[in-house]
Amino acid sequence: MIQLYTCVANQHDLRLVAVAAVICALGSYTTFAMGRQVFRDIAWQERLIWAVAGVIATSTAIWATHFIAMLAFEPSMAFGFTVGQTLASFLVAVLLVGLGTGIVIAWSGLAWRFIGGGIVGLAISAMHYTGMGAYHVQGSLRWHAATVAVSVLVGAVLGSASMVVGFSPRRSVQRFAPLLLLAAVCGTHFTGMSAVTVAFDPQVEIPGGSLDSTLLSILTANAALLIVGLALAALRLSHVNRQRHEAENQRLRDLADIAVEGLMICDGDTITGINHSLERILGQSRDTLIGVPLQRILPGLSAVDISTAKEVDGLLRNGGDAGIPVRLIAQMIAIKAKPHTVIAVRDQRERLRAEAEMHRLAHHDALTGLANRRQFNEALAKRVASRRSDDATFALLVLDLDRFKLVNDTLGHGMGDALLRRVSQRLLRAVREEDLVARLGGDEFAILKAGGTDVSAMHAVAERVVDILARPFVIDGHILNIGASVGIALAPEDGEGAEMLMGNADLALYGAKEEGRGRYRMFESSMNARIQARRSLELDLRRAVARQEFTLHYQPQVDARTGTYDGAEALIRWHHPERGLVSPADFIPLAEETGLIGPLGEWVLRTACTEALCWPRHLTVAVNLSPVQFRDARLATTIRNILVETRFPPARLELEITEGSLLQDEQRTLTILRELRALGIRISMDDFGTGYSSLSYLHRFPFDKIKIDQSFVRRTPDDRESAAIVRAIAMLGASLGMKTTAEGVETDAQSSFIAGEGCDQIQGYLISRPVPAEQIQALFSTANPIALSA
Ligand code: C2E
Ligand code: CA
Ligand code: CA
Repeated sequence: MIQLYTCVANQHDLRLVAVAAVICALGSYTTFAMGRQVFRDIAWQERLIWAVAGVIATSTAIWATHFIAMLAFEPSMAFGFTVGQTLASFLVAVLLVGLGTGIVIAWSGLAWRFIGGGIVGLAISAMHYTGMGAYHVQGSLRWHAATVAVSVLVGAVLGSASMVVGFSPRRSVQRFAPLLLLAAVCGTHFTGMSAVTVAFDPQVEIPGGSLDSTLLSILTANAALLIVGLALAALRLSHVNRQRHEAENQRLRDLADIAVEGLMICDGDTITGINHSLERILGQSRDTLIGVPLQRILPGLSAVDISTAKEVDGLLRNGGDAGIPVRLIAQMIAIKAKPHTVIAVRDQRERLRAEAEMHRLAHHDALTGLANRRQFNEALAKRVASRRSDDATFALLVLDLDRFKLVNDTLGHGMGDALLRRVSQRLLRAVREEDLVARLGGDEFAILKAGGTDVSAMHAVAERVVDILARPFVIDGHILNIGASVGIALAPEDGEGAEMLMGNADLALYGAKEEGRGRYRMFESSMNARIQARRSLELDLRRAVARQEFTLHYQPQVDARTGTYDGAEALIRWHHPERGLVSPADFIPLAEETGLIGPLGEWVLRTACTEALCWPRHLTVAVNLSPVQFRDARLATTIRNILVETRFPPARLELEITEGSLLQDEQRTLTILRELRALGIRISMDDFGTGYSSLSYLHRFPFDKIKIDQSFVRRTPDDRESAAIVRAIAMLGASLGMKTTAEGVETDAQSSFIAGEGCDQIQGYLISRPVPAEQIQALFSTANPIALSA
């Protein structure tokens, strides 16, 4: 140690030693700074450049340190260097440092760092002693072998230690590495120098061509500083570049994180990046996913699959059982010159939910939750199509509630809705799960029944449906009896196509209703014929309006006490060119359905008023009004116009309305009736006793007359119940100040009973059948129609 101290302190120019030390310190720092670049995640070409530059910078620094330190050595005699060996010493440094660092770079692990570092340490002594070979003094050099060995050992050990520490995974120790390397270089050099003693010998000659020491020291120092400086500048530049890059990346990451879509970056099939959205979708943190194979979250898919398909639907595994439906869109990008796949992960749950909801809304009836007409039609079409291949038979049931309209009109739409919901619940209970129940609209329902067309089974189902809907519904304290009619068509017997089946099921339903409702009918081909007949009747009816094929017949009404004529009821007749006389009972409903009742009703009124104008002045004419006519709010105006036009006195006109007119929209009907009443027209309640709540109507509107329905009159006087009803109505009329008319009086017995019960008027075959206009006029000119018995 003392030897070393005297060597440095007494035999060297300390200024040059300081220069050497600075170069060595800078060089050592550069060595590790550049070495760390090599271990960064960069392309191999870049690594190679950093490695070669690092080796050269390190070797230069070691060599320059040695060389300048040698120049600082003052043996107090002439000295010089031979050029060739000086260069050789530099080459030795480059080669051995290259080998040592190559080992450290190529293999990881402590042992390799130790070996590589040892070689770098040996490079220092090898360079030093090769360099000493270029050193010539005017004298002889004597070496102290043990010290030489120590110098070699110092270099190897400290060199090893510097590499072990410098490339250790523990960052905290890395910063000691340059110091260790500095120590290795300086230690080797000065220990090596202290091993030498120079003895002056004037005989020794310094070989020619030796380099001048002052110039050399300046050149070497500058060259070394330049190289190391350049290396440091490169490092700085790369650092700045890296920082910019990092900032750029951070910005991209931030951008990716605000993206709503999930994003991930894959290197091959390994996930290398994930944004916040994807973390959220997966419910897992970035750290647990980075480095994990893509298949862990997207089983069965690879980055290549996704990027070749551009867009793929997949299931994202998030630990739950079902997985999250996602759409994947891939794009290739280069990150650090390496191809990566960026995969956008679009969560499809919300979209699928919305789609499902839209589908549900489009295919379901909002009120009852049953399938709607659209879904039913689709299902029927599908069944028809598949039947062609699998030959399976099936049935179609359509049903219509019998008295729904009554509930809806009298108790309000809220009650109607509640009723429809209850009906649908009952229907669902009446069928099997695989059957499709649909609400086609209004009070129309349909059932698509799977599993064959066994007739007895079909009867059973239809009976069940009719029965279950015939039972009363109790809603909000109301007891509602509605009932339903059902029509059934079987595939393929009753039709191959959906439309045909539907049409035939409708015909069967129509048949069931005609038979009196509350029952079911299977389709029969004869129904088709009936419908055809109906259609042609409808056509004829339209033509008849234009061709004036109608006439009015009149049935007289007589005073029950005096037997004198009071007036007559106008009853329409249709003289069909081929069919002959068609009953109003057959065509009035059809005219109501087709809307023809409007013009027809006006014609009746106008004709009745015109014809009755020639009757004795005290006689009235009664005209029937259909409920459909009351849907026209201008009805009163129309009638007034007709009266003005025909100059018929309103007081001689009676209008007969049925309960149906009051059922549809009571308020509107009452308004029209009041308007008519204000004109001086009299209003009669027709067919009284057959409806639902006839009594309540009498309270709400003061009719002028009540016409007791024929069905009671016909059974009097023998049937005690009917007799009681007739009696009750007559008494009710008397107490309410309304006249009463008994319709359908055919016998004397009936007539005398009616008169005895206090009815005001009699109308019926007993007096006269309805007769044409000329005949009624002739009848009115005779005296009294009958001799009334009592
Ligand atoms: P309604 O208003 O109850 O008319 C009485 C019906 O009973 C008439 O049948 C009449 O011929 C029949 N009749 C009268 N006396 C007797 C009798 O003693 N015995 C029997 N068995 N029947 C008797 P019609 O003319 O066939 O009319 C049937 C229904 O057609 C009428 O019933 C009425 O509701 C409707 N109607 C007739 N003409 C018109 C009209 O011009 N406009 C409207 N809207 N409906 C009409
Ligand atoms: Ca009538
Ligand atoms: Ca009647």
